[in-house]
Amino acid sequence: PHADPQTGAAVKAADRAHVFHSWSAQGLIDPLAVAGAEGSYFWDYDGNRYLDFTSGLVYTNIGYQHAKVVAAIQEQAGKLATFAPAFAVEARSEAARLIAERTPGDLDKIFFTNGGAEAVENAIRMARLHTGRPKVLSAYRSYHGGTATAVNITGDPRRWASDNGTAGVVHFWAPFLYRSPFYSSTEAEECARALTHLEDTIAFEGPQTIAAIILETIPGTAGIMTPPPGYLAGVREICDRYGIVFVLDEVMAGFGRTGAWFAADHFDVVPDLITFAKGVNSGYVPLGGVAISAEIAATFDKRPYPGGLTYSGHPLACAAAVATIQVMADEKVVENAAAIGETVLGPGLRELAERHPSVGEVRGLGVFWALELVRDRETREPLVPYNASGEANAAMAAFGAACKKNGLWPFVNMNRTHAVPACNVSEAEAKEGLAALDAALSVADDWTV
Ligand code: PLP
Repeated sequence: PHADPQTGAAVKAADRAHVFHSWSAQGLIDPLAVAGAEGSYFWDYDGNRYLDFTSGLVYTNIGYQHAKVVAAIQEQAGKLATFAPAFAVEARSEAARLIAERTPGDLDKIFFTNGGAEAVENAIRMARLHTGRPKVLSAYRSYHGGTATAVNITGDPRRWASDNGTAGVVHFWAPFLYRSPFYSSTEAEECARALTHLEDTIAFEGPQTIAAIILETIPGTAGIMTPPPGYLAGVREICDRYGIVFVLDEVMAGFGRTGAWFAADHFDVVPDLITFAKGVNSGYVPLGGVAISAEIAATFDKRPYPGGLTYSGHPLACAAAVATIQVMADEKVVENAAAIGETVLGPGLRELAERHPSVGEVRGLGVFWALELVRDRETREPLVPYNASGEANAAMAAFGAACKKNGLWPFVNMNRTHAVPACNVSEAEAKEGLAALDAALSVADDWTV
């Protein structure tokens, strides 16, 4: 509709002159100028359209420009565009009620933030104040956000440059059978060894010094590793035994991505705190938050909670959440995510793995899938080294370029590609994505031994 190449060139020129981008060497990037988006697709100013298999940064769970959510934001803007957080506001009250209705157990109080990192910061603050203890245990192969505490808790290279070593964070290994840190050969073995390793870590750190254990229910950017049966229940039991607050980070896995409202629903486990963002309103307006158990909320019944944000529970963001949750319920978006995973993406990706030697493992559920690309299936040597860049990353760069040439915008992280389309992706769209991946994997195959 607005595809005018000259406008695209101007948008790009102003971006390159003035926009400082996240996580990037500013002189080495070439951002695509986006003209528009609808549903599962977006397009540029030069007539190219892409099927978005990334959902932005894994957050547009209802796709782009859902008419009902856009209308709800417009309506809220006309009614009450903003209001300070100390007041009771209809959109905020209703968003909190709808979220609390869906969170597991007694996590019925919602502290709103502007995104995931702030949710993690506040969850950790609550855990420290509730327990009076300083330390936080978190997993390698994790991402929890870009702010000070959240990035220190993160277990991937994004932490390195900002690791101040004073945040009281201790990392441990969570289960991941395909690249087992414990040299296990079965899920049951991996689960038992990972729990023993966590117990040992706690024993040597001193249980009375540990405020919280934080885990992504299913780690996202780090590789979509569904924990083995019994692991999260085991962590819950360990936390109960030592009086440690159990935080599940559902910023990426929550709100439909796994084919359930929360990924915790698959494991029958109730944490003390859940952090959420992204899918809560598909990111149409920035929003995140912490869902808080009755016991932790009670800590702040008489004692003020020492944290806040000017835009906590912003009416536009909350109106978008109310509309998004209603759309997800009315249009059975969560059920669709589950069904697409079971009937289209799961079988389709496994079928690709059979034909392409570059695919080492397929894992996931719902619309949350990872393909581990390898040079050698036997040794499981990754297609590119951990944290590779430049020439060392050429194989993944070639794979990514082949996806785009075939009309698919891929999620690529290290040696993995993730198939993470919108939760309301259609069967035909998912199949179109699989066909593009098929072609691009043939390029990756050229880099295998
Ligand atoms: N936690 C998890 C699991 C995430 O995936 C992310 C973002 O990708 C964050 C936290 C940080 O969220 P935000 O970028 O909204 O601050």
